[in-house]
Amino acid sequence: MRKRPLGQNFLVDSEIAQNIITLADIQPEDDVVEIGPGKGVLTQRLLSITKSLTAIELDPKLCRELESRFQKSSPSFKIIEGDAAKFDYSSIKPGFKVVSNLPYYAATHIMKKLIHFGSRIQSMTLMMQKEVVDRLTAEPGNKEYSSLSVYVQYHCEVERLLEIPNTAFSPRPKIDSSLFSLRPLPKPRVQVQDPQLFFKIVNAAFYHKRKMLKNNLKSWERNFTDKQGKAQLAGIDLSRRGETLSMSDFANMANYLYSPNE
Ligand code: SAM
Repeated sequence: MRKRPLGQNFLVDSEIAQNIITLADIQPEDDVVEIGPGKGVLTQRLLSITKSLTAIELDPKLCRELESRFQKSSPSFKIIEGDAAKFDYSSIKPGFKVVSNLPYYAATHIMKKLIHFGSRIQSMTLMMQKEVVDRLTAEPGNKEYSSLSVYVQYHCEVERLLEIPNTAFSPRPKIDSSLFSLRPLPKPRVQVQDPQLFFKIVNAAFYHKRKMLKNNLKSWERNFTDKQGKAQLAGIDLSRRGETLSMSDFANMANYLYSPNE
């Protein structure tokens, strides 16, 4: 059987590694979690600032190497061999910062898992495929705006920090990367009665990107109203496309459709 690829494109540009650490704004008193430390290019720099570092790495061989390299000089460095997409982050003292050059194949999965534990996290400084970061930071009307943009911006403050060319990695991937930060919001960006319903509508609205809302939102057709021959929902013209709706528009729809007894 072919070995499962682990997205092992290691950062080899030391100037960029240093920039990432600076942008992550790590202080000596911070508890830091690093996901996918790999060969330790960021780990080493993180340990020169803070002693409290927990690293989660899936590759057993890399775990052993990191252990023997760092554990002696940094006794509070802890390496956990495991899958960061399945890890229970509530086992770590709350208030930590996350730093990671995420493996491409699982990046969105791991990010969503971290957002799930967002109330315990101070900040995340993450590197991902540029095209995905374009979606995370996109605003309504932008062609990259998608259900993922709404999901992430509902939960977090998103800031793009740095562009990283593929030449900074070995082996060199086909794609470029971007560094960005996520700061979990103390409460969601918009107030909705039923978050599950809100995301059901958001996902449906973007399901066929080129289709009008009246087609994508057919499941709620009985709630459509008519204004001069044009279908509407919560006052929103359904001949529009999902990509033109703001987060408040989606929230208005979800709250309009919310009925506690259903
Ligand atoms: N931080 C290193 C760097 O910047 O050079 C390595 C980054 S490399 C893109 C991704 C790392 O994540 C690899 O070391 C890989 O083994 C590890 N990895 C892959 N899948 C993982 C998972 N599900 N959980 C934890 N680590 C994972």
